[in-house]
Amino acid sequence: MSMTAMNRILEIDPADRLVRCEPGVVTAELAAAVAGHGLFYPPDPVSGQTCTIGGNLATGAGGVCCVKYGVSADYALGLSVVLADGTLTRTGRRTVKGVAGYDLTRLFVGSEGTLGVIVEATLALRPARPPALAMLAQFRSAREAGDAVAAIVAAGHVPSALELMDRATTRAVVDLGHPLLASGEAATLIVESDAPDPGTHIAAMAELCRAAGAIHLELASDAERTAEILRARRLISPAVYKILEGMPGRPTAFIEDVAVPRSRLAAMIERIEEISARYGLYISATGHAGDGNLHPLVLFDQDDEGEVRKAENAYDAIMAAGAELGGTITGEHGVGLLKRDWLRRELDPAALLLQHALKRMLDPSGILNPGKVFDV
Ligand SMILES: Cc1cc2nc3c(=O)[nH]c(=O)nc-3n(C[C@H](O)[C@H](O)[C@H](O)COP(=O)(O)OP(=O)(O)OC[C@H]3O[C@@H](n4cnc5c(N)ncnc54)[C@H](O)[C@@H]3O)c2cc1C
Repeated sequence: MSMTAMNRILEIDPADRLVRCEPGVVTAELAAAVAGHGLFYPPDPVSGQTCTIGGNLATGAGGVCCVKYGVSADYALGLSVVLADGTLTRTGRRTVKGVAGYDLTRLFVGSEGTLGVIVEATLALRPARPPALAMLAQFRSAREAGDAVAAIVAAGHVPSALELMDRATTRAVVDLGHPLLASGEAATLIVESDAPDPGTHIAAMAELCRAAGAIHLELASDAERTAEILRARRLISPAVYKILEGMPGRPTAFIEDVAVPRSRLAAMIERIEEISARYGLYISATGHAGDGNLHPLVLFDQDDEGEVRKAENAYDAIMAAGAELGGTITGEHGVGLLKRDWLRRELDPAALLLQHALKRMLDPSGILNPGKVFDV
């Protein structure tokens, strides 16, 4: 089932600061439409030019500025959902507050299409955000970058982006034509602030990065340089494709999505480096560092059986490391098929029973995204 033809924005209401839309609206198009009314829809997955509001809600998507503004779930006020038996139901509200009954909106958000089909969404908006400034900080080790993230958070800063790139990704971004990055360093942080006085915040965060070991800093003092710094983040996907292109055989990647408490980010980065060395595989560590959410990519040759096995083991080892550090198997992409076994390990038996019961109640014949999330 594809919802992309249901792509109308039905209402933008500045007084109630909300937008009502169909699920097939492309996220970036919704953000642009509300911006035209002086409003801001914060969830900004990097796939924003292609993904849809329905997909964002169904996966509980995050994004770059979620470190400050929260994720898709935080903006879902109400939904219209078609249930497995064809019944159309409305959840939630269009008021700022509302606690009538169980929170069914939150139940459907992140349910990966396994409990119902979202056919309309009422989403909260914020006023347009003030102009932002950004900086790049580069470190000799990824551990130092993780320490800088912890220091920034502990000092009380609330950046509107705090993103990490590892050495190989940085090098590939430089090769794609990014002039502000140095290519030799082990890790890069991209930091943005849209606080009322962003320059002061950026300068203070730069000092914390320096204290954590940063050896190359680029601070923007205008919109143009800020845009250039943020462009580095958007170049990560093309950069990873470039790394894949340079690999022998028929290379592909497992995309991880592990999240740990922010205080454990540096430890998680070290674990990923250990796992990469142990299996002799290239594992790129990039992601939404400010959320403790990393997307390690395990790169391997799918024609090489031995390498496929190593990649599967490395993928498992990363999830185990995340769990050991008090994290979760998925920060924003969801469980899908690949993480069903791991969901069983993350949830306690009672929680698992409750989740199975909800699935059976809402989808007794198992027709909604069968096999996803649970193999029941
Ligand atoms: C380059 C790249 C960058 C990315 N960056 C991010 C990021 O920063 N943050 C992030 O969270 N994710 C990111 N993603 C992952 C993905 O883009 C997001 O999870 C996005 O929310 C998926 O939306 P979609 O419209 O593509 O959904 P799809 O992939 O089409 O669907 C995703 C799931 O939602 C279900 N679904 C879709 N529509 C509905 C509906 N109307 N009702 C019920 N179920 C539905 C589908 O069945 C499926 O299970 C990225 C992906 C790529 C390729």
